[in-house]
Amino acid sequence: MTKPTIAIVGRANVGKSTIFNRIIGERVSIVEDTPGITRDRIYSSGEWLTHEFNIIDTGGIELGDEPFQEQIRAQAEIAIDEADVIIFMVNGRDGITIEDEFVAKLLFKSSKPVVLAVNKIDNPEMRTDIYEFYSLGFGEPFPISGSHGLGIGDLLDEASKHFPEQPEEEYDDNVIKFSLIGRPNVGKSSLINAILGEERVIVSPIAGTTRDAIDTVYTFEDQEYVMIDTAGMRKKGKVYETTERYSVLRALKAIERSNVVLVVLDADTGIIEQDKKIAGYAHEAGKAVVIVVNKWDTVEKDSKTMKKFEDKVRENFQFLDYARIAFVSALEGKRLKTLFPFINEAGENHRKRVQSSTLNEVITDAVAMNPTPTHNGSRLNIFYSTQVAIEPPTFVVFVNDVEMMHFSYKRFLENRIRAAFGFEGTPVHIIARKRN
Ligand code: GDP
Ligand code: GDP
Repeated sequence: MTKPTIAIVGRANVGKSTIFNRIIGERVSIVEDTPGITRDRIYSSGEWLTHEFNIIDTGGIELGDEPFQEQIRAQAEIAIDEADVIIFMVNGRDGITIEDEFVAKLLFKSSKPVVLAVNKIDNPEMRTDIYEFYSLGFGEPFPISGSHGLGIGDLLDEASKHFPEQPEEEYDDNVIKFSLIGRPNVGKSSLINAILGEERVIVSPIAGTTRDAIDTVYTFEDQEYVMIDTAGMRKKGKVYETTERYSVLRALKAIERSNVVLVVLDADTGIIEQDKKIAGYAHEAGKAVVIVVNKWDTVEKDSKTMKKFEDKVRENFQFLDYARIAFVSALEGKRLKTLFPFINEAGENHRKRVQSSTLNEVITDAVAMNPTPTHNGSRLNIFYSTQVAIEPPTFVVFVNDVEMMHFSYKRFLENRIRAAFGFEGTPVHIIARKRN
């Protein structure tokens, strides 16, 4: 199920990132008095009672040197486009400012539910300060204090009342949901169009049934796919869409809903740091990955070119050693067919289950081949292993001492599991747990 999304909007310094961090429960972004500081994270998931949701701190998306009105307009538009519920935040100590009124006007025009939060109400005596905020026109103001963690439960109670009742329509289990991520101009939109334009690809007329209306359902050789568009990539236009943080936000949203993520690289410009960062998101999310080297037409080739490029990819993306690499040209529509088997394989392996009995044989053989590490005269003992989850395949290994399961030994076990079962395309998680 797709989680509902809350976005926090408000002028600078009202406490958006403080509240964002409170809600996600970690202090991940830096909160300082200096306005305009870089924030680490602007999109995360949170939980309140029985609700899981995503939350966006729109204040973290800034447009270079644009004047405040343009910044705030972009941030409000992001909230309106991306969120199911908007938390409009003001500062209870400042009263209503012109900037607050400007935000209010923008939000008023949208049909999204808005919950008004008055921050910096650090003690109960200050609660009387909130009444003037009724005049913003969003009903009851909710007093909160980011620094003291007050009122946040009531605020989330109110926000969660506005979560969509019907969860988004989901697809059958055997459908492969995939998305394309990559920095701007690597050719994601071109690839989408090229894939959909392939011979024998049958695009289903019920495309775009979800809230975001950006999914495309299609069939190719009896396999059904859902292509999750990372961004209205096919309806570009708004200023903020060119900002890096917004494209990251969209990528994270798309990754979350995918089984398989296509990490798109540009053969013409080569691999840069940003590519690795983006690929890292897919890996960290535990998704299956196919690396797609696009614009292969721009490269002058001899018999070694592909191998050389592949080596370069492997060297730069060591954490994606399980991913297949496809070389394609969206522009010329070449080699696109090589992509489908990789997507299928990654999708199948991502949800593959193996039998416990076979798994334990594999582990026993592995231990015989390479004995477990010892420490201070005692040895790591592996009692039993079992697959506890799919998407990605996750294995729990019960041991006598978790500390002794070193990274390198875990890595060895992973390689044995991969060799035995073939998990091409997908990450595999191994968790050591103490047997009680
Ligand atoms: P943003 O620009 O809206 O994201 O605001 P920040 O979260 O960066 O906060 C701006 C300043 O307000 C920081 O110095 C925070 O420590 C401070 N602040 C945030 N929440 C509260 C609060 O509830 N009470 C008080 N007194 N200060 C707060
Ligand atoms: P996006 O920002 O990742 O969606 O990239 P686009 O699909 O908009 O493509 C960016 C530019 O690269 C456009 O000018 C495309 O025509 C061009 N492009 C895309 N795919 C290819 C390709 O396979 N070969 C070449 N030579 N150019 C391509």
